[in-house]
Amino acid sequence: MAKIVSGKEIKEKLLLDLQADLDPLQRQGIRPTLALIQVGDHAESTRFVASKRRQAEALGLQVIDHTLPGTTSQEQLEGLIQALGAAPDVHGILCQLPLPPGLNADQALAQLHPGKDVDGLHPLNAGLLAQGRPRFIPCTPLGVLRILEHHQVPLSGARVTVVGRSPLVGRPMAHLMTHQQATVTLCHSQTHNLTDHTRQADILITATGVPNLIRGDAVQPGAVVIDVGLTSLDDPAHPKGYRLAGDVAFDEVASVASLLTPVPGGVGPLTVTMLLENTIRAAQQLTRSSLTSI
Ligand code: NAP
Repeated sequence: MAKIVSGKEIKEKLLLDLQADLDPLQRQGIRPTLALIQVGDHAESTRFVASKRRQAEALGLQVIDHTLPGTTSQEQLEGLIQALGAAPDVHGILCQLPLPPGLNADQALAQLHPGKDVDGLHPLNAGLLAQGRPRFIPCTPLGVLRILEHHQVPLSGARVTVVGRSPLVGRPMAHLMTHQQATVTLCHSQTHNLTDHTRQADILITATGVPNLIRGDAVQPGAVVIDVGLTSLDDPAHPKGYRLAGDVAFDEVASVASLLTPVPGGVGPLTVTMLLENTIRAAQQLTRSSLTSI
C-alpha cells in the first residue's frame, strides 16, 4: 500500500525555511513585494488570487493587487506589466491566467521583467530551464520537486514519465527532471499506447486534467506517483456541490505505488508556497544586483 503524501506537512516545513530566508531581508529594511494582476472576474481566478494574497501576507510579504476590468485592452495590460517591471519596490509579478478572450497571454507574459517573473513563464526563464540553467521555475513543477526531495526519492538515473506537456506544468516538469539527471519520457494526448510509457516509470507525474486517466494497471509496482491533475466534478452528495478529482484512480493506484499524492492535499498546497519562495528569491537577487550596481 502506498504512503500518502501530505502536501500540508511539507508546506509547513518549507514555510519555516522561507521565514528564515525572509529575516535577513527584513533586517535590511526590504519587504519582498508581489504584484498580483487579475483581468476580469473569472470566479476560480478570483479564488486563486485571494488565496495567493492571503498566504503571501501571512508569511510577511507585501502584496499589491491590480484587478483590471474584463474590457482591459492588450495595450493597457502590457503597459501595467511594463510599469511594474520598472517599479523598484516591486520584486515579483504574477499575471493570473487564463486571461479573458481577446487578450493574448503569450504576448502579455513576454512583457514581464524576467527578474520578477515569479511564475517562470517569461520565454527567457522557460528557455533557461530548457537549457539546464534554471532561474525561475514554474511553481507547480517546483512544488513537485520539493515533494520528491522531502521524501528523498532518488532522481539521478530514475525513469520519469511525465503525462501532459503544457508550458505551465508538464513541459517545465520534464525539463526540471532532466536537470535532476532523470531519464525522462514526455507524453501527451497524441502519445500511442500511453500505458507502455507509464508502466516503465519509476516516477510517474501526471498533469492532464483527465480524471481516472491513470489506472492501477498503468503503474509499475513500487513506483512513485505524483498526481497534479485537478478537475472539479459536480457532486450533489458533496456539501459544496462539487468534488475535486486528480488524474489518478486513487484506490487502484494506492494499492500498487510506493508513494502517492492525493487530490486534494498533495501537490496543490505546494504551488502557492513555491510562488512565495520565488518572490523571496527575486527580492534577494534584485537587492544583490542593485547593491552591486551602486
Ligand atoms: P493543459 O494546458 O490543459 O494541458 C493538459 C495536457 O494534458 C496537454 O499536454 C494534453 O496533451 C495532455 N492530455 C490531455 N488528455 C490526455 C490524454 N488522454 N492522454 C495523455 N495526455 C493528455 O493543463 P495544465 O495547465 O497543464 O494542467 C493540467 C492539470 O493540472 C489540470 O487538471 C490543472 O487543473 C492541474 N493543475 C494543478 C495545479 C495544482 O496546483 N495542483 C496547478 C496547475 C495545474 P496535448 O498537449 O496533446 O493537448
